[in-house]
Amino acid sequence: MRVAVVSDIHSNLHALEAVLAAIDAEAPDELWCLGDLVGYGPRPNECCAAVAERADVCLAGNHDLAVRGTIDLEEFGGEAAVAASWTRDVLSSEAQELLDRLEPTGAAHGVALYHGSARDPIWEYVLTDASAVATLELADSPLVLVGHSHVALQIALSGDELEGALAPAGTEVDVDGVRALLNPGSVGQPRDEDPRAAYLLLDLDARRASFRRVEYDVARTQREIRDAGLPELLAARLELGL
Ligand code: ZN
Repeated sequence: MRVAVVSDIHSNLHALEAVLAAIDAEAPDELWCLGDLVGYGPRPNECCAAVAERADVCLAGNHDLAVRGTIDLEEFGGEAAVAASWTRDVLSSEAQELLDRLEPTGAAHGVALYHGSARDPIWEYVLTDASAVATLELADSPLVLVGHSHVALQIALSGDELEGALAPAGTEVDVDGVRALLNPGSVGQPRDEDPRAAYLLLDLDARRASFRRVEYDVARTQREIRDAGLPELLAARLELGL
């Protein structure tokens, strides 16, 4: 059983299409999405349609919940609130129906899935040892996938020994016999200083995870962000991976 995992697409259609093409070449059995299909970027409807067609499992992220109206926009700051409000205005009824069906937690084939973390699936960023341990201890599966931080990570707990690090392109990890937490990184707005779109390949039989990055046409998405009148920062950050 081989699974491709994506997260934090953020309405970046050209990043998503590049990732889906790379995933097609790997021919995994399933595709899972850890949430934040929309928010920040210019092509929410097309991203929702592609995920609806392709994903076997899909979570809701905080931006999805804000856009569909479950979270008040006042809980969002600055560019996130502006983009969520813009997305509400352009969202198709099909995309709204997809977002309405999603939950921020899930499970598939013995793997626990959270957009944020086990103790706060909507808002918590797992970026510290303490937050990773809390989620690994709360989850009822030895393998946990999270998104939300837009930083590709691999953290393993073996006994009370915690080992983990950023997971740049090409990182391969063995998740056999440990409790492991993995974040695939972000498709549409990476924040680990690698602007390429991120995804993860998981072999559940071999207990191996492989972190991948793909180039996409960043300038094209930047043009669409500017043409939509979305905040300039949302365009500028994409070429930096920040
Ligand atoms: Zn996100």
